[in-house]
Amino acid sequence: MNLKKPLNALLAAVMGAGLLLTGTANAQKYPDKPISLVVPFAAGGPTDTIARLLATQMSKSLGQSVVVENVPGAGGTVASAKVAKSKPDGYTIYIHHMGMATAQALYDKLPYDPLKDFEYIGQVADVPMVLLGSKNFPPNNFKELEAYIRANKDKVTMANAGPGAVSQLCGLIFQSRLGVRVTTVPYKGTGPALTDLVGGQVNILCDQTTQTIPFIKDGKVKVYGVTTPKRLSALPNVPTLDEQGMKGFDVKVWHGIYAPLGTPKPVLEKLNAALKKALTDPDLKARLDSSNIDIVPVAKQNGEALKSHLDAEINRWGPIIRKANIPD
Ligand code: ASP
Repeated sequence: MNLKKPLNALLAAVMGAGLLLTGTANAQKYPDKPISLVVPFAAGGPTDTIARLLATQMSKSLGQSVVVENVPGAGGTVASAKVAKSKPDGYTIYIHHMGMATAQALYDKLPYDPLKDFEYIGQVADVPMVLLGSKNFPPNNFKELEAYIRANKDKVTMANAGPGAVSQLCGLIFQSRLGVRVTTVPYKGTGPALTDLVGGQVNILCDQTTQTIPFIKDGKVKVYGVTTPKRLSALPNVPTLDEQGMKGFDVKVWHGIYAPLGTPKPVLEKLNAALKKALTDPDLKARLDSSNIDIVPVAKQNGEALKSHLDAEINRWGPIIRKANIPD
């Protein structure tokens, strides 16, 4: 009789049970050290701001610091690739916006699969965008902007945060609707891009409302339109792009929280509970409210809802992006 096989199988079973026990014990102790929340853009921008608000609140309920780690580059895809390869132990989590879906159509081959290489913790919030110009840029309204770009397309510069960023997506829909291409200036995030817009180093930028409303109200930048189908309560006098002739222009930026594939379920449950609690915090809500940002309903604050939304968004944006004939 060959005893070697059953012995090996027994050994494997004992080791497996041991690993399972350690896993469970670790999950019970979790978290016992700081957690890194990876942000795919530079500090000071909209994604970073939402991440920092969440990190503060999630730290409270997890009893450990949640430390924001900015990993900018290639429109967010550098961070997505890094997170996909990180240890699935709950100490690396990730926030990304709808670039998680749009990058699929913008890159020939991504080094990760958005639908296979992650665990899905929950949706967060939806953020409108605004089309902005620097103060020293001649056009004062959308009509003038259209005419100016048509007449000066070789001179006009448009900032964005790289292919895969929503600033790029919004910009390319705008340019494809206009039928004119301008010069793109990529940044590591729209935080630094907004600084340059205010400084007049670049002409136009499509950015979330997260940081931009005070700049608009103080007259530090010009605003040409809102990217959502309805006007925003914080900017009631700013017309939508839809009502100014770009019919159906509808870009609202959704966000999700992810972890590397294989992160233990009990850990994901703790992270989801911390996310849900964070989204009820009155200070966080007030800050988001002031920027016309909508926290998603509780029914969307879970992994299943995030994954099916991501899937639907990959299918929604693929044809739009291919039709707009990017990349830039
Ligand atoms: N708003 C940015 C984007 O264009 C990124 C950022 O949050 O800095 O995707």
